[in-house]
Amino acid sequence: MPAKIISGIETAKAIRAEIAAEIASLRERFGLIPGLVTILVGQDPASESYVAAKNKTAHALGIHSEQVTLTADTREVELLRIVGEYNRNPAIHGILVQLPLPRHINEAKVLFAIDPAKDVDGFHPVNVGKMMLGEPCFLPCTPHGILELLQRSGVETSGAEVVVVGRSNIVGKPIANLMLQKRPGGNATVTICHTRTRDMNYHTRRADILIVAAGVAKMIKADQVKDGVVIIDVGVNRIGQAASGKAILAGDVDFDDVVGKAAAITPVPGGVGPMTITMLMKNTLQAAKQAAGIA
Ligand code: NAP
Repeated sequence: MPAKIISGIETAKAIRAEIAAEIASLRERFGLIPGLVTILVGQDPASESYVAAKNKTAHALGIHSEQVTLTADTREVELLRIVGEYNRNPAIHGILVQLPLPRHINEAKVLFAIDPAKDVDGFHPVNVGKMMLGEPCFLPCTPHGILELLQRSGVETSGAEVVVVGRSNIVGKPIANLMLQKRPGGNATVTICHTRTRDMNYHTRRADILIVAAGVAKMIKADQVKDGVVIIDVGVNRIGQAASGKAILAGDVDFDDVVGKAAAITPVPGGVGPMTITMLMKNTLQAAKQAAGIA
C-alpha cells in the first residue's frame, strides 16, 4: 500500500481555522485581542523569512502582531531592556526572540528574561521544567506540532517504539520527552540517537515511529527503516536554488527512497514546517486567555 502522506499544510489549515474562530469569539465576547511581538536581531535571511511568515500568519488569524528589528551590533543590555518593556506591556501576550542571536549576546540570558507567562516559544526553564513534569505549560512549537500531526493522523503512540534522531533543546529532547509522557499521544518507548550513537541503524530499524531532526539532507535511507514505519521528517536543508530563485529544500529523510517502505510520512516542505508557526499562534492565543483569566 502506498505511504499515507501526512500533510502539515492540511493539518495546519484545520488548526488555524479553529484558532481564528476562537479569536473572533474572544474579541466579540470580551474585547480580547491576542498580541504577539517578534524580536529580530541582525539580518539573517532565513530568520527574516521566518519572522515575516509568523507576522503574516498572526495577522491572518486576528492576532495583533508587532515586529522589532534590531541591528546585529545591538548590545545585550538593550535587548534585555526591550524584552523587559514587552514583559510589562498588557497588549502583548507572547514574546518571541528569533534565534539564533549574534554571538556577542548570551542567548540563554535573553530567553530566561522573558516572562514565562509570555514565553510562547516554550524555551524558558520554567516551561521546560513543567513540560518535563507533565504540567500544563507552553510547549515548544515544533515538538507540539509533531504531537498534533501524529494525533490528528490517528497514529497510535502508546507502546510504540519511537526513535528520535537529534538531541537539540528545541526539537530532539522535547519531542522525546513528550512522547514519553503518561497521557494520550505519549506512552511510547523512546530512544534518542545523536552523533555519538554507536550503531544508529540498529535503532532506526526498530522504530515504529521515526522522528528525524539532525539537519543533514536525505541522511535516512530505505535500508535504515523497517516496513510500515511512520516517519516525521523535521529537517529543513537548503540543497540548491531553482530557476525561480527559490531555495530547493530537502528533509533529513530521503523521501523517494523510503516512501515505498513507510506506512506514513511527512513531506518537506509541507510537513512539520507549517505546524511550527501554527503552534506559535495557538500558544499566543493560550497566553492571551490566561492573562485575561479565561479558562
Ligand atoms: P541541531 O541543534 O543542529 O541538532 C542536530 C542534532 O542532530 C544534534 O543532536 C546532532 O547530534 C544530531 N545529528 C547531526 N548529525 C547526525 C548524524 N549524522 N547522526 C546522528 N545524529 C546527528 O538542529 P535542530 O535545531 O534540532 O534542527 C534539526 C533540523 O530540523 C534542521 O534541519 C532544522 O532546520 C530543522 N528544524 C525544522 C523546524 C521546522 O519547523 N520544520 C524547526 C526546527 C528545526 P550531536 O548532539 O551529537 O551533535
